[in-house]
Amino acid sequence: MFDLTGRVAIVTGGNGGIGLGMARGMADCGARIVVAARNAEKSLRAVAELKGFGVDAAAIQVDVRDEASVESLVRATVALWGRVDILVNNAGTNIRKQPQDLALSEWRDVIDTNLTSAFMLSKAVYPHMKAQGGGKIINVGSMNSIFGVPFSAAYASSKGGIVQLSKVLATAWAADNIQVNAVLPGWIDTELTVGARGDVPGLYERTLARTPAGRWGVGDDMAGVAAFLASSASDYVTGASIPVDGGYSSLG
Ligand code: NDP
Repeated sequence: MFDLTGRVAIVTGGNGGIGLGMARGMADCGARIVVAARNAEKSLRAVAELKGFGVDAAAIQVDVRDEASVESLVRATVALWGRVDILVNNAGTNIRKQPQDLALSEWRDVIDTNLTSAFMLSKAVYPHMKAQGGGKIINVGSMNSIFGVPFSAAYASSKGGIVQLSKVLATAWAADNIQVNAVLPGWIDTELTVGARGDVPGLYERTLARTPAGRWGVGDDMAGVAAFLASSASDYVTGASIPVDGGYSSLG
């Protein structure tokens, strides 16, 4: 049920953190992985590691804010392995400022990276998935898809948008056997949150105290949900948003 042998997965931001954790989960089930990000050196390190699962892996450079770059990523993937079965829209960024201090250019950068990218990439893979008879799209949201925090106007708007985009694509493409779901990670220890911990004093301790599991997450905590949502085990799951958060969003 969880076998992904022969399936081709594109993981944006797959060269570290949550993206690499999700890539490991799918590689462990046999999927071929395209690591799609900007930092070529970091992507090659991730590819070398993923090959350790005994699967094919390749790095293709992309800037997810750029439509031509996104379309070229999908063309290159299909040229390489002939198909695309799984898309993980994981690349993301944040600029932590109070709303009144956030420049419009900063707002646009965050929305383009986190939300518009998922729209463009989903559109770009759609004809291939439809022609193949189905596919899986996994979008990465956040606790900010649900909660508001003062320093996350653009980030939380983008992550709320990810939930709604997932529902819309799920309804639009269900008849094509394409399932679209979102995962909502809790607080995961990555380069992104190391930055947040620097910017927001006390964040590490407050998060720890509020997380029922009693620890921050790690990238590999995202491996199982990726394998599930990429596989036929989830063929009747679509439009869902699944928290993977150690209970963070369940605590009143
Ligand atoms: P990282 O900073 O480790 O990962 C971000 C990834 O996105 C990197 O691989 C980066 O690669 C890629 N990326 C950023 N901008 C672009 C771009 N313009 N084009 C292509 N790739 C890009 O952080 P995380 O692993 O924490 O974040 C991954 C996702 O998880 C994000 O969407 C984030 O919002 C989300 N998330 C994280 C949480 C956490 O606690 N860590 C909680 C909830 C959600 P490169 O720089 O090489 O381009």
